[in-house]
Amino acid sequence: MQPQTPITQDVMTIKRILPEDGLTNIVGLTRDQLRDALIGVGVTEKQAKMRVNQVWQWLYHWGVREFDVMTNLSKDFRATLAEHFKIELPEVVTKDVSTDGTRKYLVRIAGGHEVEVVYIPEKDRGTLCISSQVGCTLTCSFCHTGTQKLVRNLTAGEIIGQVMLARDDLNEWPEPGQGTGDNGPRLLSNIVLMGMGEPLYNFENVRDAMKIAMDGEGIALSRRRITLSTSGVVPEIHRTANEIGCMLAISFHGTTDEIRDKLVPINKKWNLEKLLEALAAYPKVSNSERITFEYVMLKDVNDSDEDARRLVKLIEGIPAKINLIPFNEWPGAPYKRSDSDRIKAFADIIYNAGYASPIRRPRGEDIMAACGQLKSATERARKSRKQIDADAGL
Ligand code: SAH
Ligand code: SF4
Repeated sequence: MQPQTPITQDVMTIKRILPEDGLTNIVGLTRDQLRDALIGVGVTEKQAKMRVNQVWQWLYHWGVREFDVMTNLSKDFRATLAEHFKIELPEVVTKDVSTDGTRKYLVRIAGGHEVEVVYIPEKDRGTLCISSQVGCTLTCSFCHTGTQKLVRNLTAGEIIGQVMLARDDLNEWPEPGQGTGDNGPRLLSNIVLMGMGEPLYNFENVRDAMKIAMDGEGIALSRRRITLSTSGVVPEIHRTANEIGCMLAISFHGTTDEIRDKLVPINKKWNLEKLLEALAAYPKVSNSERITFEYVMLKDVNDSDEDARRLVKLIEGIPAKINLIPFNEWPGAPYKRSDSDRIKAFADIIYNAGYASPIRRPRGEDIMAACGQLKSATERARKSRKQIDADAGL
């Protein structure tokens, strides 16, 4: 399916140039864009690089939100910045904390739209699951987000803003003058683009935001700690390797075109053969280790021994690990979770073929924060059950 151009996107572009308050939000600008913006308010070409570095570090290393506290800039320059720019993050509307410590934030972005962000604490690390779109153009039949129409793409600022607001909530910015924040394990050590939306249908904004997350003078997460999950937008896979270089996860879920067409309808456009060809090239180009194959376990749909054996055969030659995801149910879902014995038997076949086959432990289920359960409450554009079944070819 072609990505639809959301009607509201143009409006957003205009808004970015001419925001209501006349101030340009500098969160999410690339280094080059920030440079142009600073030159636009009178910084000389000669000084531009240094000024970009200074502002960048305040924003993304120290996490400050006021120009006035950027003490290595002159008072006059700080006033000029405040006159033209702002530092704005998406607004946290609600925060739910699960009994297992998972935190789910509902955040509001420009236009009143809402997306969800999930923080999953683990021992000595923690993963933030971020969203790239409001809703999704794709209609994977087992996914709650897929029942919500695409409203619009998030801007780069709204994507990196999710990381920044989570660091706010975790109190993880270093105190100016008191250490650099480099000590000890990080609470937010990994990012996964596995929230709402298809990141490769919002490529440029996702790329720009992840470049900010990886920049050594700011949040400084290694590219190996960022995983982008795609349903299989084949032409953008090599761009991900070239232009982002992060780890790749692929929503595989089916081992024949017939099954995958139903579960992940983008397969009708780029089938298993085309997808596997693109995946085989990925680790070489991006220098990454293994591709994660995500495989949702749906009772009596894709969970037989035969499926497991086919899966192993298909991915032969690709450095891979297979992440088995017990299906997370949502109201009206047309599937059931496979029994745990079945999941275990499936995992064993893959493991015995030489692949890691971890079974993902659902996190934050009590707050509907588990994979595929995200959907913003205010965007109830839910299709009818009939339509979900029709899309799934049931
Ligand atoms: N659009 C991207 C990223 C978001 S989905 C993609 O499809 O890859 C993140 C992961 O959650 C995907 O692997 C998706 O297939 C999986 N998922 C979606 N709904 C799910 C559900 N109800 N239960 C378990 N996993 C689900
Ligand atoms: Fe969109 Fe991913 Fe859900 Fe498919 S699984 S509908 S691509 S968010």
